[in-house]
Amino acid sequence: MHAVGVDIGGTKIAVGVVGDDGQILAKTRRPTHPEDPASIDAAIADAVAELAAEYEFRSIGLAAAGFVSADRERVLFAPNIAWREYPLAHKVAAAIGRDDVHVVVENDANAAGWAEFMYGPAKDAGSMVMLTIGTGLGGAIISDGALVRGSAGFAAELGHVRVVPDGHPCGCGHRGCWEQYASGSALVREAKRAASERSVRAAGLIRLAGGDPAAIKGPHVTEAAAEGDELGVELLHELGVWIGAGAASLSAVLDPEMYVIGGGVVAAGDMILGPAREAYSSHLPASGHRPLAPIVAASMGNDAGIVGAAALAREADQPGE
Ligand SMILES: [Zn+2]
Repeated sequence: MHAVGVDIGGTKIAVGVVGDDGQILAKTRRPTHPEDPASIDAAIADAVAELAAEYEFRSIGLAAAGFVSADRERVLFAPNIAWREYPLAHKVAAAIGRDDVHVVVENDANAAGWAEFMYGPAKDAGSMVMLTIGTGLGGAIISDGALVRGSAGFAAELGHVRVVPDGHPCGCGHRGCWEQYASGSALVREAKRAASERSVRAAGLIRLAGGDPAAIKGPHVTEAAAEGDELGVELLHELGVWIGAGAASLSAVLDPEMYVIGGGVVAAGDMILGPAREAYSSHLPASGHRPLAPIVAASMGNDAGIVGAAALAREADQPGE
């Protein structure tokens, strides 16, 4: 049976019909008005109606960028959308107005992780950790074949594990969170810092950003590194080390079979993953006496949220199917 996955971000809502094999059969999108939750409910219902004209489905999974309650019905808090204790599943079901469809909510990083676990590089693994490294650092943990949601739904917020006491301030209100070192934002912050010193080493990076150090973006760093620029290579190496060293600490807790890295940084490939693997190996407790979990790139791209949310919704309705 097909299922629908909905990926609700701060700028757009992407909606797709997904088959049993994880393939997206049809896709549509709507703009998001993050300050107006009711308009998001209506936009989802409108997109679902469009897809229902051609496809049959009974399960709808909503991937939401926020803290989702353990019963998968409410978004308790979202940093970029005005959801506060918001009964999203109920509201969307009411907007759709069909008795025969069941709606569940998942955290977006969990949904993406589930897609990689079911259909991506971890499909033969029994456990994995996914790190989605874009502007921030999102996490998903799958242990013994099940998503780890935690007692209240707050598990796997890996970006907010503290790695540096009194380190850089974080949007969560604390300091030194892993996200402040292992993310695209951290990469850009460090690149701008190096460029603002106007050292000879930063000349290549500044040129790629059109001569303005303040205009440097992540892809400029990747581009510079790909051309062999020393600073670019060093910045990506540093980011990789933060990823790998943090993963080694996670292995002390979770001992997963593999790490899957998604998000924008994947574009830099082994320029980041290589240093990440080295740092992982050298920081891993009992290294040399245990299997080294592979650190691999995600394969589902931007569709992971849709595919994972649909698969989790189907699983909730038809366990084992
Ligand atoms: Zn934080």
